[in-house]
Amino acid sequence: MKYVLVTGGVVSGLGKGVTASSIGVVLKACGLRVTSIKIDPYLNTDAGTMSPFEHGEVFVLDDGGEVDLDLGNYERFLDIKLTCDNNITTGKIYQSVINKERRGDYLGKTVQVVPHITDAIQEWIERVAVIPVDGKEGPADVCVIELGGTIGATIFSRHNNNGILDAGDIESMPFIEALGQFSYRVGPGNFCLVHVSLVPVLSVVGEQKTKPTQHSVRGLRGLGLTPNILACRSTKVLNENVKEKLSQFCHVPASNIITLNDVTNIWHIPLLLRKAHDAILKVLNLQGVAREPDLDEWTNRAKLCDSLHDPVRIAMVGKYTGLSDSYLSVWKALLHASVACRKKLVVDWVPSTDLEDTTAKEAPDAYKAAWNLLKGADGILVPGGFGDRGVQGKILAAKYAREKNVPYLGICLGMQIAVIEFARSVMNLQDANSTEFDPDTRTPCVVFMPEGSKTHMGATMRLGSRRTYFEVTDCKAAKLYGNVSYVDERHRHRYESQVNPDMVAKFESAGLAFVGKDETGKRMEIIELPAHPYFVGVQFHPEFKSRPGKPSALFLGLIASSCGQLDALLQNPSQPNKHIPAKISSNGVFSPKVYPNGHQNGHAYKPVKSLVNGNYYANGNGVHV
Ligand code: GLN
Repeated sequence: MKYVLVTGGVVSGLGKGVTASSIGVVLKACGLRVTSIKIDPYLNTDAGTMSPFEHGEVFVLDDGGEVDLDLGNYERFLDIKLTCDNNITTGKIYQSVINKERRGDYLGKTVQVVPHITDAIQEWIERVAVIPVDGKEGPADVCVIELGGTIGATIFSRHNNNGILDAGDIESMPFIEALGQFSYRVGPGNFCLVHVSLVPVLSVVGEQKTKPTQHSVRGLRGLGLTPNILACRSTKVLNENVKEKLSQFCHVPASNIITLNDVTNIWHIPLLLRKAHDAILKVLNLQGVAREPDLDEWTNRAKLCDSLHDPVRIAMVGKYTGLSDSYLSVWKALLHASVACRKKLVVDWVPSTDLEDTTAKEAPDAYKAAWNLLKGADGILVPGGFGDRGVQGKILAAKYAREKNVPYLGICLGMQIAVIEFARSVMNLQDANSTEFDPDTRTPCVVFMPEGSKTHMGATMRLGSRRTYFEVTDCKAAKLYGNVSYVDERHRHRYESQVNPDMVAKFESAGLAFVGKDETGKRMEIIELPAHPYFVGVQFHPEFKSRPGKPSALFLGLIASSCGQLDALLQNPSQPNKHIPAKISSNGVFSPKVYPNGHQNGHAYKPVKSLVNGNYYANGNGVHV
């Protein structure tokens, strides 16, 4: 097993995760099998208890692991399926060491950070690195390890002896020590350290400054880690003399210094890192084994994405707080589907509370703006969520989509509220509700349905991959999935639409179809309104399994229907990109086909304001891709 460790220096938010995933892509393109591990030095055992509005989305794995969103990047970029153990946190490591101590495994010794914690970290890495994640048997060739946090910044402050260490820096220390030992243990030829750093440009003179990177690398060395490759974030390509200077002061050959300059979309990053493949293969002694990277698919996709101008507008109705990472996988899944439909994705974030009547009185401008966005959308998506804040707004969005024949995809909570809305408006069951929002409701149509104990509140979430069987074959969802009899998708919820068997017939005759159920037939997994152009609700989260080249079926359905391509797609659902007779010319430029009958709502394309400050991978319009 060979290891590539990716560390970050100078400042956080350099896109270390995307860089590490992209290194994986390049190595995979060289014919190597790649797995990955993300180290998060925080104390939480997993990301399940962390607020997505502070930390970004909680990504869910097949095995039910609730992990850092970076694992989503790895899965999407490398088309692999990771396990919860591929995300290491301080909490997990300490828990394992304390469990061992309680079992008496340390034979009376004093248990300490060094060597017990540091040994546990190394053992964990070696154990997890060999788990196959690409559907093939046997261990991968290379494991990419991303260390969360910024190393250089720690040293920068320590170096200045000003005593400023933040919590994250302190938490990283055992991992840095363990990884230093690990690099020595696995030996040269098996370990490659890529340090992602920042080369800022002083805007007045436009000079690329190397000092922060120099400090960061010095700090790294001081901790026993020697970088083999520097990946430098900068607005423009690094000048040769800047590379020479960095090489001289950081003791890294100029040929091993790669610029990660600003690009128009995220799929260009593996193309930038292509330049590093020789250096990485050399350090890892893999030159004879690997081939030249074949990145044609990534090149075409990156160019295609740049060439898309015709917008598809999706209103995302949620608890929007400004951190777009809170719904990262949903956003990516929308993007994958839009690119397949040759449309430029424009996501309008609609805070669901702003759609509610109380906002009309208290903040009429916000109310008007929210309704304008909703009404201007080609399609509406209500993502998952917890708690009752903004639920009424989501119900109103579902009602609007249903009544106005606007394409709708409801995910988890988005499906539950669609069922409630239908029961209330169409079946006249005014007090229909979820017991999550009203435990005493007389018409509970969404109820607490844990898989285990109903009385024990801990660990009652239904998590991970579960099977949904299609009850009906003649429905859009089944067709979009390619007429299969069942699908495996990832879940993360406690409540579930449970329709009283006596009521199923009433719901169905009122026009709501339960087209997918679990193996017991008691849990409603997919709903559809057959008479609507596209109104689909799912209890699971299809966004977690969407891939750039393999968009999720139901997202594709939403986008296709939002831009008038659903009929064409349903005729050829197994070939998502083929439903539009698109042509990519030899220079990779896409020539779009004009659809005379395509649904066009006449919106002029307005760039979306950048949502994450300092995201270097935003494109010229500020739309994150
Ligand atoms: N709050 C709902 C539940 O627990 C929905 C969860 C979700 O949307 N992920 O079932």
